[in-house]
Amino acid sequence: MKTRVTRKRSYHRRALGAAALLVAGIAVPAGAAAPDSGPAPSHTATGGTARNVILLIGDGMGDSEITLARNYTVGAAGRLHMDRLPMTGAYTTYAVDKNGRPDYVTDSAASATGWATGHKTVNGRLSKTPDTDRPLPTILELAQRNGLATGSVTTAELTDATPAAIAAHATDRSCQGPADMKRCPGDTQGRGGPGSIAEQSVAHGVDVLLGGGKRRFDQTITEGPDRGMTVTQQARRRGYRVVTDAGELRAARPGRPVLGLFAPDGVPVEWTGRPAAGGGTGPQRCVTSNPGRPAGTPSLEAQTRKALELLEGKRAAGRDRTGKGFFLQVEGANIDTQDHLADPCGQIGETAAFDRAVKVAREYAAKHPDTLVVTTADHGHSSQIVPLDAEPAGLSATLVTDEGGRMKVSYGTQSGGGGQKHTGTEVRIAAQGPQAHRVLGVTDQTQLFTTLRTALALR
Ligand SMILES: [Zn+2]
Repeated sequence: MKTRVTRKRSYHRRALGAAALLVAGIAVPAGAAAPDSGPAPSHTATGGTARNVILLIGDGMGDSEITLARNYTVGAAGRLHMDRLPMTGAYTTYAVDKNGRPDYVTDSAASATGWATGHKTVNGRLSKTPDTDRPLPTILELAQRNGLATGSVTTAELTDATPAAIAAHATDRSCQGPADMKRCPGDTQGRGGPGSIAEQSVAHGVDVLLGGGKRRFDQTITEGPDRGMTVTQQARRRGYRVVTDAGELRAARPGRPVLGLFAPDGVPVEWTGRPAAGGGTGPQRCVTSNPGRPAGTPSLEAQTRKALELLEGKRAAGRDRTGKGFFLQVEGANIDTQDHLADPCGQIGETAAFDRAVKVAREYAAKHPDTLVVTTADHGHSSQIVPLDAEPAGLSATLVTDEGGRMKVSYGTQSGGGGQKHTGTEVRIAAQGPQAHRVLGVTDQTQLFTTLRTALALR
């Protein structure tokens, strides 16, 4: 106990030191140069080591997605939980082509590869090199090798790009289950590869895996030693407790790894409303409950809270007395899917749900100050707030916000009926805790890998 108090005090002292440096106008950390080679003062400023990392990724959550959710839920002058993180910067997200030239608009696979491995890759690829298609070590693998507990929570399928990038290596993101291997011939077990993303996630022995994608895990493995079993059966054989609704999740206790599969595909969204349309919609209020969302579906907030309880409990249960902490990744995935669909209410509801997960992370960090909390996005997206008298060429919708204002939202990255597209803008990255200063300024998302590795002192 005494040790913890000391750590906490020294952390606060260092944090104050950083603030003083900032006020004095001294460049603290990580600009364009690799943070590893940064000046010594940046390390002593808010340096120190984190026992735990909670990394929250809003998929497609650019600045305008954040502003839409803020305006609608807490008002233009209000602040979301993610707005309250003390250190805020921006990072670039571009992917590369096979020859290493920039591909200015990334997808979630190349983006997640960037922060998960510190290396850029081609769109669609997961934690493998852009040219030679070789596996790159991930932050989750490094955390495991250093004895930390690990967790991954998402509202997407657990085999979707963001969770897949930390617990799998795949030539193409579509290779999610054993029956989906068409685009990854070299990754199949028959060719000596590690198998599908679902199989790899289970084989990695991640302590907590919570999300959607049950359909992928229920596919039958056709090659290798577990041939004839489903991935879910494989997980049980490896000691996983498999849970499929909020009640079963609540009953899970530390001591066994947990695989939560809460939907056949992605987890259904929280809010609904009329999507944007050519020529706009009439003013509307969002419906803050989705009749298509089964009653027993746990919220991202509940999943995050439980993941923290299980990861914290792993140490307390005595299996790990080394004092090692954990690495937890939490993804709000459907901000992106609703942006693709030009559905502002769906999108805002998912951003608000993500923000409640940020609140849970910050509550945990308030009790455990040796926790680095980072919130960011993987790429920008389509939605823009435009003047009420604008007549956008694309789709638009008008919302009546909680504070009674009218807000017009335009989606214009794809014409016709096709889904909206990602954008190549830089996005926000914000943090608190040990090494949080490394997010300040303009960085690239590959530097987040170094920030996480440095904070956790991973070798
Ligand atoms: Zn997307």
